[in-house]
Amino acid sequence: MTRDMYGNALVPGYNVDLINVKAGLKELVACGYDDDARRFMVIEHALMRWQRGEEEAAERGAIDRAFHGIDFTSWRRVLAAAMAHAHNIEKEVMAELGATVTDICYDTEFLDDGDTIDLISIGLVVPQGSGQRDLEYYAVNADCHFDRVREHDWLWANVVPHLPTTKADWVDPNQGRAVTQLDRRAACVKPKWVIANEVRDLITRKTVDPNLWAYYAAYDHVVLAQLWGPMSNLPDGIPMWTHDLMQLCEQYPEVKKPEPSDDEHNALADAQWNARLLRRLRDAATNELMSR
Ligand SMILES: [Mg+2]
Repeated sequence: MTRDMYGNALVPGYNVDLINVKAGLKELVACGYDDDARRFMVIEHALMRWQRGEEEAAERGAIDRAFHGIDFTSWRRVLAAAMAHAHNIEKEVMAELGATVTDICYDTEFLDDGDTIDLISIGLVVPQGSGQRDLEYYAVNADCHFDRVREHDWLWANVVPHLPTTKADWVDPNQGRAVTQLDRRAACVKPKWVIANEVRDLITRKTVDPNLWAYYAAYDHVVLAQLWGPMSNLPDGIPMWTHDLMQLCEQYPEVKKPEPSDDEHNALADAQWNARLLRRLRDAATNELMSR
């Protein structure tokens, strides 16, 4: 396995760009460079270096006009084509492997005070084909303002009992309320930036053309999008909107909603419930199509 100067493994498509050299060279011809075999070798070499994570050296070589290099704009076109094709091939391979999972059901718990929405916890479920376990993710935001969550009566009663906290005894719910903290020893309690990276990777790398789904989705979408800051920071590949299960419920009023789970208001349990509801709604939609 290729490693960088610090010994870290370089994984194409993960920490270095995936490159399709052939597509890049095709673009080179499209840019009008079809006259020099050595130029082909220089650009081929540059693309391979780029894929090894040696971006700077690759670019320097590619645009070195003293040694068969090309102009900067053409190089960037070549690079973009090489990356785009590699990305498409990766998606095709995932689709071939049956990894075409388009639905992502999620739920968030949050503190909303009318001005700000503070993420408390997030659960995601990516339903898989029959016989396969659904892909699941759950995290609690170590950076949430837990003192404010604790003071919020509804959150204290409905959400906090599901979180990993230092409070063990819920027989007397108010005992320890003033001093209870998030239990930072729990593996699911993570800084917000870690959650942002993990959720981004799950959505963009483990699915093909993802559709986001949530129940009364408007707030959830904002909480999800704000993992990465303002709307303009939304990473490539994260959908800009969330489908609302309620819209389908309105369309198929005959569909019975699943029984609420014992863990209602645990974000993962709610995401699982959303996935069950979506399955029922999809079945209803299929039946309607078949009966036409
Ligand atoms: Mg919930």
